[in-house]
Amino acid sequence: MPIDATQAYDDNNIFARILRGDLPSNPVYDDEYAFAFHDINPQAPLHILVIPKGRYVSWDDFSAKANDAEIAGFIRAVGHVARENNLVEPGYRLLANIGQHGGQEVPHLHVHLFGGQFMGPMLARA
Ligand code: AMP
Repeated sequence: MPIDATQAYDDNNIFARILRGDLPSNPVYDDEYAFAFHDINPQAPLHILVIPKGRYVSWDDFSAKANDAEIAGFIRAVGHVARENNLVEPGYRLLANIGQHGGQEVPHLHVHLFGGQFMGPMLARA
């Protein structure tokens, strides 16, 4: 069920629990601002999620309320993870789902990195 991108942050959401170490994950990167791990249900040969360490529900919440260091740290971490996983050449897809129409399921900001094959059309055709 997609979430509301403007809802209050839920400290018991699944990614908050992963960040606290209450739930296991398959990590690929960790720093002061971001944590990256393999998606549990991969949609491509390589499917990594990158999340900020801060309590942000969505891209909307993060872009409005995060401070400059958090934003820079998160964006740099996304690029670093892509480079470290050899995604830059031949390329990859970066995606963030936001709210109901975006189909966002987990109420902690995350970006998806998809790679390892040609990703096809940008959106599924009806
Ligand atoms: P979204 O629809 O953008 O909110 O995507 C949520 C993503 O989180 C989906 O691709 C799920 O497969 C992934 N996911 C859900 N639970 C876990 C988990 N425990 N570990 C890793 N990925 C997860």
